[in-house]
Amino acid sequence: MNVQILGCAGGIGGTGPYTTSLLIDDDILLDAGTGVSQLSIEELVAIDHVFISHPHLDHIAGLALLIDAVFGKRSKPLTVYATAEVLHALKTHVFNWVIWPDFSGLPSAESPVMQYQEISAGATLKLGGRTITPHSVNHVPGSVAYFVRANQASFMFTGDMASTPELWQAVGLQTDLRMVIVDCSFPDAEAGLALVSRHFCPASLIEDIQDVPATVEFLIYHLKPGQEAQIMAELEQNKDRIFKPLKAGDCFTL
Ligand SMILES: [Zn+2]
Ligand SMILES: [Zn+2]
Repeated sequence: MNVQILGCAGGIGGTGPYTTSLLIDDDILLDAGTGVSQLSIEELVAIDHVFISHPHLDHIAGLALLIDAVFGKRSKPLTVYATAEVLHALKTHVFNWVIWPDFSGLPSAESPVMQYQEISAGATLKLGGRTITPHSVNHVPGSVAYFVRANQASFMFTGDMASTPELWQAVGLQTDLRMVIVDCSFPDAEAGLALVSRHFCPASLIEDIQDVPATVEFLIYHLKPGQEAQIMAELEQNKDRIFKPLKAGDCFTL
């Protein structure tokens, strides 16, 4: 399984900090932020499955444009997977004929370019040798993290989140876990903003993962542009943990 980081920044601005999107092999996207815009038309057409962690704009901005880009170029629908709350938000606020057309009915209801599939926390999906399991996280209603596994190796992508002890208990049970990609949006000086917007800052992340084995590697993502160095410096003060910044363009083979 190959994992390519198309975007992992907590905003735009600067030299190429695209927002959240991860490409697994050539056919699965986890979130569809502005990182999607780096793919060619051929690469966009190859995407069959898009898993959305939650409906915030920085995680879906590329979805509407992706569907438009592949319209008329695919032989089967692209499937958008999300929880009931997130699908409701997408249908009501994005694909509503106001912000963007309802592509689940285009070019026809019988043969659309895009279809929705509701997922539930804890229910594993199998996709050609890869399995994906959503886990509920504390961010906005319906938000999930995704465990992805193939070839006896797995990783976790948290989406955006604040304290969720149940998630870390599940992480501790994964014997084949290679890495955790986790939100740490703000420096500790903005802990109040992190709390109210349901993100982590270094202090709250370190407290939340205190029972996770120290061997687990945490790849930090969703850092606010301009504050990356401060956030990483605060995390790296914790010497018994492995924290590394995730970067657009990073590729992993599991
Ligand atoms: Zn969010
Ligand atoms: Zn976000």
